[in-house]
Amino acid sequence: MDIIERFIQNPELEKKEYEELLLASGEPEARKRLAEEAVRLRKLYYGDKVYARGLIEFTNICKNDCLYCGIRRSNRKADRYRLTKEEILSCCETGYGLGFRTFVLQGGEDPWFTDERMCEIVRSIRGKYPDCAVTLSIGERSYESYRRLREAGAERYLLRHETASEEHYQKLHPKEMSLAHRKQCLYELKELGYQVGAGFMVGAPGQTYRELAEDLLFLRELQPQMVGIGPFVPHHDTPFRDEPAGSVELTLRLLSIIRILLPKVLLPATTALGTMDPEGREKGFAAGANVVMPNLSPEKNRKKYELYDNKLCTGEEAAESCADLRRRVERADWHLSMERGDAAEKALEEMEQESKRQEDNL
Ligand code: SF4
Repeated sequence: MDIIERFIQNPELEKKEYEELLLASGEPEARKRLAEEAVRLRKLYYGDKVYARGLIEFTNICKNDCLYCGIRRSNRKADRYRLTKEEILSCCETGYGLGFRTFVLQGGEDPWFTDERMCEIVRSIRGKYPDCAVTLSIGERSYESYRRLREAGAERYLLRHETASEEHYQKLHPKEMSLAHRKQCLYELKELGYQVGAGFMVGAPGQTYRELAEDLLFLRELQPQMVGIGPFVPHHDTPFRDEPAGSVELTLRLLSIIRILLPKVLLPATTALGTMDPEGREKGFAAGANVVMPNLSPEKNRKKYELYDNKLCTGEEAAESCADLRRRVERADWHLSMERGDAAEKALEEMEQESKRQEDNL
């Protein structure tokens, strides 16, 4: 049996075998087979739904200096902003009116947003919109901080691990940052009961199949509920300005592989995928993705949250253009869902049987 079929039958492979899988997945037939299996698994747990999350990029101020990032602290040219609590709530109001039931609050590691301020924001959103989920994506914080935010009502947390290879991590980050701490944060978030999202860039400088195999092993160990991956896109004001961008095709293969590795995972077709290819998101759904995150940030700030060059911030990336997004999703034969869309625990059929049993018992 070839490595593709072996992986489909039992995704728990050794590191060397994951490298072999990644190499073999470049063949058109293998790609097709992986995508078919990924879509089958996605349907099993989520049917034909693609979940929409309202993204609010509320601060582009960051104390960190990740080498790949356009809003790193050393970039003096970045035009910095911070939204007030009122502005954030106004984004939520617009989003709620558009039907969104998940708000993703994303920002740099901005020390102005202390635990008190963040908890107050989370509490206000949950108080006003109790039927909505709040996802945070605000980087590394202390256990105590994560605990307080969880208590304030945040239920999900996105923290990309970026690369699971220690050596590679050091190439992408300044020396005061460490993979060990990043991993510790992810485990703490899990312990506190968050639905956790990890992830990485595809084609980051210095990445080979060996590093990607480490990423797959780490994802298997962590068992996150969400995984965000997108092609690396260089930013002109970073040390990686001349590095080549990552490949859309490899990203799509990895989406299928991750869906097979973690069938119940929530997997976004990311903005970076849409930036690199106008059909990137549709291709993402066909490869096993099931989440999109349109932008709810105020229009005047969108361009300023420039993590990489040419990041999409208008058109279908904008939450106001939900109708266009819906058309695109539906053209790809999926259904755009605005509900909370928590991570699946069981297959749909199993859930239907359970609720039928409950009805029969009433
Ligand atoms: S990647 Fe995140 S933590 Fe790193 S510099 Fe950019 S915003 Fe800050």
